[in-house]
Amino acid sequence: MTDRDDVVQDLRERAQFYAGLSSLGLPRATPAPGAVAEAAPAATGAAGTGAAGLEAVRTLIGDCQRCKLASTRTNIVFGQGNPNARLMFVGEAPGADEDEQGLAFVGRAGQLLTDIIEKGLKIPRSEVFIANVLKCRPPQNRNPEPDEIMSCQPFLEQQIDAIRPRVLVGLGKFAGQWLLKTMEPISRIRGRLGDYRGIKVMPTYHPAYLLRNPSAKKDVWEDMKIVLSILNG
Ligand code: URA
Repeated sequence: MTDRDDVVQDLRERAQFYAGLSSLGLPRATPAPGAVAEAAPAATGAAGTGAAGLEAVRTLIGDCQRCKLASTRTNIVFGQGNPNARLMFVGEAPGADEDEQGLAFVGRAGQLLTDIIEKGLKIPRSEVFIANVLKCRPPQNRNPEPDEIMSCQPFLEQQIDAIRPRVLVGLGKFAGQWLLKTMEPISRIRGRLGDYRGIKVMPTYHPAYLLRNPSAKKDVWEDMKIVLSILNG
């Protein structure tokens, strides 16, 4: 397949994924009063790679007003880490601590993620990149809504394009489903390697879920062993 065929196929699959989200009966787009209904460009890889590519994505986001979360957020949480990381984690959305500090995974779930990375994988956290499907906190940490995911998705696509990690770990249902363009439950996709535009994807449980269900940590460890084997392969 040519690059163009790849992009067309990716867009087709993503459109099907979004159609699936809406058919679940999730709330439809309700633009914030005064919100600019401007769509961000789809990923093209044109932003460049590494630090320069990420900087271009951050510039594109600007003081984003593209969805209704703009009116309730404190800070945009772009994500942080090594712009050339071989391993990238994708979470769901910022929580209260992340919204306050403007950094991804800095609360209790973030501490557990740090342990998974540093004690489990034995990689310094600064060596990986951590981002979220949504860059702004949903009020009361409610689930991301389809219009929010759609508004934000070009930025995550372009972050991944800039970093080109060897492995992507999707943390929890929303990240796993977004990366794999599927509506299958996390319990079914977890632990099964998938593909995001040629990059290996490992969906696993979200650290916040592990805080509530510590017995699931062993499953995450199984998943991380597979991630390690790819990184070391
Ligand atoms: N949960 C997430 O999904 N992302 C964060 O950044 C923090 C908590």
